[in-house]
Amino acid sequence: MFDLLIRGARVVDGSGRPECTVDIGVRAGRVSLMGDGHRAAAAERIDATGLILTPGLIDPHSHSDWSVLANRDALSSIHQGVTTEVVGNCGVTFAPLADPGVDAARAALASFGYDGEVTWRTFGDLLEVVHGGGTAQNLAWFVGHTALRNAAAHAESDLVTAMRWHLEEALEAGALGFSSGLRYGAGRFASSEELEVLARVAGPRGAMYASHIRNRDADLGRAVDEFFRVVRAGEVRAQLSHLNVRHDTGAADGAWHAAVSRLESERSAGWDVLADMTPYPHGIGLATGLLPDWLIASGDQAAAEALRDPAVRARVREDADRYWRFIHRGQWERVRLAVSPATPEWEGRTFPELAQLTGRDEWDVLFDICRRTGGTSERCSSSASSSPKTMSPRRSDTTCSFLVWTASPPAARAPLVGARPIRCFSTGTSTS
Ligand SMILES: [Zn+2]
Repeated sequence: MFDLLIRGARVVDGSGRPECTVDIGVRAGRVSLMGDGHRAAAAERIDATGLILTPGLIDPHSHSDWSVLANRDALSSIHQGVTTEVVGNCGVTFAPLADPGVDAARAALASFGYDGEVTWRTFGDLLEVVHGGGTAQNLAWFVGHTALRNAAAHAESDLVTAMRWHLEEALEAGALGFSSGLRYGAGRFASSEELEVLARVAGPRGAMYASHIRNRDADLGRAVDEFFRVVRAGEVRAQLSHLNVRHDTGAADGAWHAAVSRLESERSAGWDVLADMTPYPHGIGLATGLLPDWLIASGDQAAAEALRDPAVRARVREDADRYWRFIHRGQWERVRLAVSPATPEWEGRTFPELAQLTGRDEWDVLFDICRRTGGTSERCSSSASSSPKTMSPRRSDTTCSFLVWTASPPAARAPLVGARPIRCFSTGTSTS
């Protein structure tokens, strides 16, 4: 007697074997029959003739850890067939956390709909809070390098020693490895040497390194070099996250292909490295990623204060040629405000639309948003819209692992924060 019998489906089991039409029997939550079930008794039967049946899909680059506390059902992942997500990417996780970072974490999580307390400090504590409450999908975690750095900044020991300690704690608690986001937040101020020290912690433990690398436009080659320096230092397995090269950002012709060739040759030499890509033309990003180092260096709050000064704004306009560099080239129509708790009424609009609405130009709109939110990057994000984002081919048959994108989740089913879907539940969601 099965609890569930699914009959007549074309089964694609994920092993690489060709599909076959078999019956699937499930007992006590486990597949206990793959074969002929026509005589079998079952509490529930599903006729799946003509349909494909497959194990849950894996999304290898997700930020659902930002939103899972607010929505444990993860409907838009589950509705797309995604049952496992690799989270904690791009250096940004909400643990480890030092006391001075708690308010910012609470505010950032609130922008994803979480209104509970931030009770955890260590990475293990966060895992207990998330998994103790149950999640619809399986989650595999990286700990974020930016989080390690922010937590360590308040330690009594020197920065890198404290970062090592936090990384060891996270690995002990079950992290797959650590991720970096070297384009924004505290990650942009990290040296290669600092990353190499952490890789030497991860490598011997069989843990991984995933990196949103430092540059994917004019300096893509050098950023890939740095990635491999870290890989070699720790002899660590690694994932180069969202290897996208955006249209009109100053990347040399063929830069993406050169990066892929480099990955191929390193793999041939025995290094266990892969890359992934965002499989659709949109991507989310952190608005403060546009802002120059000199403005961000003294912290988000100070940056927000400084943006009151018209002279600072004028200088930022000149210097904000980084990250999504097409913006500095005037292509604001490619940018849409996605999440902005201070100005929720503006969410979903492009910057030219906001400029028209407010009678100010797009830069001032951005500065106003950053100033009003306190400049904290997680509270203000934007998304590149449809014009050509990438000059990379969509698929590679070589070193790119692929992200799964079936379709946008039906809006009516997407979990909502206020009036908007929680963006981070989309498959392949990527700060990019
Ligand atoms: Zn990223």
